[in-house]
Amino acid sequence: MPDASARTPYVAGNWKMHMTVAATRAYVDKLLGRLPLGKGVEIGLCAPFTALAVAVECVDGSGVKVLAQNMHQAAEGAFTGEVSGPMLVELGVAGVVLGHSERRRDNCETDRALQEKVPAALEAGLAPILCVGESEEEREDGETQRKLRHQVQEGLLSVSDERLAEVTIAYEPIWAIGTGRVATPDQAQEAIAFIRALVGDRSQEAARAVRVLYGGSVNAENAGEILSQPDVDGALVGGASLDPEEFARIVGAALT
Ligand code: PEP
Repeated sequence: MPDASARTPYVAGNWKMHMTVAATRAYVDKLLGRLPLGKGVEIGLCAPFTALAVAVECVDGSGVKVLAQNMHQAAEGAFTGEVSGPMLVELGVAGVVLGHSERRRDNCETDRALQEKVPAALEAGLAPILCVGESEEEREDGETQRKLRHQVQEGLLSVSDERLAEVTIAYEPIWAIGTGRVATPDQAQEAIAFIRALVGDRSQEAARAVRVLYGGSVNAENAGEILSQPDVDGALVGGASLDPEEFARIVGAALT
């Protein structure tokens, strides 16, 4: 059975294509004093490539982690415009978001590529957040579990059982991303428990340890109820993470 108490809550802000270098400095300056640092919640900032180095510099010593929003599966090669895991590690980046629905939709991100990216991230020393989630049409057609099963099984296919729990999974229903339509706490719990059970099909130990986050229109008002669900281990926050005060309140909600 999942043991929520053994899993450290995790809240990550996905800035998407926001934040220049100057804006990153100003943001982190405002954020750090507002965060409950050292209180048992893991905090991540998913910055665009150009802001990664300055984000790492600004959070130094705080325990806040910096993540990239994508990476290529190869360590190096003839892949114009791409960035590899070792390049991110060299900057001090701790993790990487993989398979975000915006990248699946707009950048031809495939489950096949993710099969290689997730283990490549682990190999490079990055903690991946693998995003999965159904469209509105799939939910209405009763296809949510089929879609989640497919994405979770594909994304984790080449990860050994021993390393499964090093992957964080973000359940992000596409219909809730950037729409203001947050999933109900019951919907989030049901889908996340299902994802945990899918990991359990591979390893019960990993299922107990793996963290599964909810993402989709989380804000300071709705975070508490969603984060109090037994299988919800934290949140991946898009729009609301752009305001340091609001993001800090969401992080605080993960502690209550
Ligand atoms: C996201 O982009 O991962 C996300 C959850 O966005 P939002 O919070 O804006 O819905």
